Amino acid sequence: MNDERVERDDLTKPVTTERVRECDECAGAGDEMQTCSLCDGYGGIAVDDGEMMECPECEGSGEALAECAYCDGSGKVEDYA
Ligand SMILES: [Zn+2]
Ligand SMILES: [Zn+2]
Repeated sequence: MNDERVERDDLTKPVTTERVRECDECAGAGDEMQTCSLCDGYGGIAVDDGEMMECPECEGSGEALAECAYCDGSGKVEDYA
């Protein structure tokens, strides 16, 4: 008897949780390009004999994909509005 009512409730409920919206900082991706922490954005790191080698972390680009600090990598932030 109550089956119909339960189904109707499910349909009217939004799929996503209320009060949560996409993170502005990473556009909901959860991660973003940040200055590489290993080479500090230089794209290379110094080896023992003073030569530079390509940074293995960012492959020389100086930037690496890192977890968004704003949403802790979830891609969503709580909407306080
Ligand atoms: Zn984010
Ligand atoms: Zn690097």
